[in-house]
Amino acid sequence: MDSYQNLIDGRWVAARSGRVLQDFNPSRNTEVLGEFPESDPIDMQDAVAAAAAAYPKWRSMSLVARGEILYRAADILTARANEISRDLSLEEGKTFPEAKGETMRAAALLRYYAGESRQETGHVYAATDPSTLLYTRQVPLGVVGIITPWNFPIAIPAWKIAPALVYGNTVVWKPAELTPLTAYHLTQALVDAGLPEGVLNVVYGQGSILGSALVADTRLQGISFTGSNGVGRSIAAVCAEKGTKFQLEMGGKNAVVVLSDADLDLAVEMTIRGAMRSTGQKCTATSRVIVEAPLVNAFSEALVERSRKLQVGDPLDSQTYLGPLASLNQKRTVLEYIQIGKREGARLATGGESIDMGGYFMSPAVFTDVDPGSRIATEEIFGPVVSVISAADANEAVSMVNRSNFGLSAAVFTRDIAKAMHFIEEVECGIVHVNSETAGAEPHVPFGGMKDSSSNSREQGKSAREFFTQVKTVYLDP
Ligand code: NAD
Repeated sequence: MDSYQNLIDGRWVAARSGRVLQDFNPSRNTEVLGEFPESDPIDMQDAVAAAAAAYPKWRSMSLVARGEILYRAADILTARANEISRDLSLEEGKTFPEAKGETMRAAALLRYYAGESRQETGHVYAATDPSTLLYTRQVPLGVVGIITPWNFPIAIPAWKIAPALVYGNTVVWKPAELTPLTAYHLTQALVDAGLPEGVLNVVYGQGSILGSALVADTRLQGISFTGSNGVGRSIAAVCAEKGTKFQLEMGGKNAVVVLSDADLDLAVEMTIRGAMRSTGQKCTATSRVIVEAPLVNAFSEALVERSRKLQVGDPLDSQTYLGPLASLNQKRTVLEYIQIGKREGARLATGGESIDMGGYFMSPAVFTDVDPGSRIATEEIFGPVVSVISAADANEAVSMVNRSNFGLSAAVFTRDIAKAMHFIEEVECGIVHVNSETAGAEPHVPFGGMKDSSSNSREQGKSAREFFTQVKTVYLDP
C-alpha cells in the first residue's frame, strides 16, 4: 500500500505526530487505497507559515508567467487523465466516464484560468485633472484557505485553486477526508508543472480539527469553502468575527418541474440523469420532481420503470449506471431517509434497499405521492432518491420549488416558451435549466446558489476574479 504525505513549503512531509488515516474503496470496503497523514493544527500552522513566506515572490511574478504554470498543469492532467480518473472512481465511487469527465473538466478549468492571465487587470477612468492617470488594479488578497468536499474531488478544488493562484494568492488546501488520493493527483500535477515552493500547501486530516484550525488562522485573507450547510455557517461566523473574506457553496434540494405539455420521455430521462448519476451525490442533483396533475401518473410510471433498469455495481464496469455511496455514513444517512419517507406516508414505488456486494451500494429509489412539506421533500438527502410531487398548475409548481430554503438549481420541462420564461423569472435559484437536467455546469460561467445554498457569491468564470482579488485605485500625477 502506498503512503502519501502533506505538501508544505515544497516538501512532502508526514504529519508531525506520525499518525496516518487509511483511504478506503467504497466499492470493496476492506480494500485500502493508500495511507495519508492525520495532521494536527500544528501542521496546518506550518502550512500557513509557508504560504505567507512564499506570497511576496509569487505576487510579484508576472500574471503571464503564473498562467504558464497552469497551462502546463492542464496538459499534465490531460496526459494522466485515465490513471487519475480510475483512482477517482475507486475512491469516490462515481463511474469511470463520470470520473473522466470530471478530470477533463479540471483540466479545462486550469486552462480557462491560465487564459485569464492574458486578460485586463483593471480599468482606466476619466479624472477631473486631465493630466492624472486614474486607474484601478485588481491585486491578490494574500494567503487564502481552500476547503473542499469529496463529491467532486478534482473539479471543485481546480475551480478554486486555479483562480487563487493565477491572481497571485498563495494557498493552503484542506481536501476532503474521503478523497485524498484524487487530491494528491491534482497537487502532483501542479508541482510537476513548476509551481514554486510554498505557493500551494496541502494538509490532509480531519475536517473538524484541521478545517477549523485553518479558518481560525489570522494570517488568512480569504476562505473559499464548498460543503455542507452546517459547516459553512460555522465558517461564516468565524470569518465575520475576524473580518476574513469568505465564499461558501453548500447544499441543494433541486427540483425539476414537468408541465403538462412537456416531452415526457425527455423529462423522464433527464430526471433520471440528474437524480441518479454520481449516485445522487451532487449538490445540483435532482431531488424533487413536481409534475402538473394531468401528467403525474404517466410520468411516475415511466420514471419507476426507467429507474428499475439502472444497473448498480462496480464503477469501473462499463455497464454500471450507479456506483456505491461514498462512505458507510453516507449510506446510513440515505437509508434512514428511506425510512423517514415511509413514515411520512409517501409511497416507495421502487428501490431504496441496501445491496450486499461488499461495498456501500443501494438500489435507486423513487417515492411518489409525496407531501411537498415533508422532510424527504425539503431536506437534502444526497443519495439516489427522488420524490414525485403533484401540482395543480405551473404557478403552484413554482411556488413549491421556492418553498425550499435552498436555491441552487432547478429545471422546467415545457414546449411553451412563455411558460419557460415565466419559470426563469419566478424561480429562486442560482442556476435554471429549460428542458435539461438540474446537474451540470460549464467551466467558464458563474456557478452558485441563492438562499441557503451559498453566501450569494458565485464561483467560476469572471466571478472567481471578484473573490480572489481586491481593488487598488491609483491616481498617478506626473
Ligand atoms: P462537509 O461540510 O462535511 O465537508 C466539506 C469540507 O469541510 C471537507 O473538506 C471537510 O473536511 C471540511 N470540514 C468539516 N468540518 C469542518 C469544520 N468544522 N471547519 C472547517 N472545515 C470543515 O461536506 P461533504 O460531506 O464533504 O460534502 C457534501 C456537501 O457538500 C453537501 O451538502 C453538498 O450539497 C455540498 N456541495 C455543494 C456544492 C456546491 O457547489 N454548492 C458542490 C459540492 C458539494
